[in-house]
Amino acid sequence: MTAVIDREELELRLARRLNKAQMKALKELLELLGDPPDWYRVPQTFWEASGKALVSVIGSIIEEIYVMQAEAMLAGFGGIGVEWDLINQAAVDWARAHAADLVGKLMQRSYEFARQAVADFFEQGWTMGDLEARLARVYGAQRAEVIAVTEVTRAAVEGERATVKELEKYGIFMIEIWQTENDELVCPICGPRHEKREGDGWTRDDGPPAHPKCRCWVNHVMKD
Ligand SMILES: [Zn+2]
Repeated sequence: MTAVIDREELELRLARRLNKAQMKALKELLELLGDPPDWYRVPQTFWEASGKALVSVIGSIIEEIYVMQAEAMLAGFGGIGVEWDLINQAAVDWARAHAADLVGKLMQRSYEFARQAVADFFEQGWTMGDLEARLARVYGAQRAEVIAVTEVTRAAVEGERATVKELEKYGIFMIEIWQTENDELVCPICGPRHEKREGDGWTRDDGPPAHPKCRCWVNHVMKD
């Protein structure tokens, strides 16, 4: 398979939607905190609702990418058909579980970061503007971009792995080869893996993605 189809468009779309959800959450959080901020005015329901919004944004896009890459990969096999119901179901299950898991971690960090920021407000004698600036860092565009790039990579690889698994039912066995852009931007983690087969210095647990903002992908060759 080639690199992710429409990668730029997908990254942008996911980043934009994440950013929008995060901006909305930040605005609500500031309103709930009040002036001066009171941490205990932020109810559990706020964290639950903002987490749910993120799961919905991430889940729908990664599901779409998963299916798209699975289809593209299968197209390379001409006449072979697989049970699409199974791949579609795998996409739904994987996207839902992964989005929930990822958002759980993100929300934990947001929560801790916000709590620390409110404590600093009092300890450091901040203004509300200082507090907002600190919170904007974790709710800002940079974080959305990192998540978008990494999750596009992950969904594409997972979609292809689902196809490979289906093809095995028909006696077609393939092995993954790590692909990087192989340019000066490739990091020291991914660089040495370029064109290396699965098992040769890396396993599926290593990625791609191997790290936040990893844009690597895999292609497949028939097993010997
Ligand atoms: Zn990489």
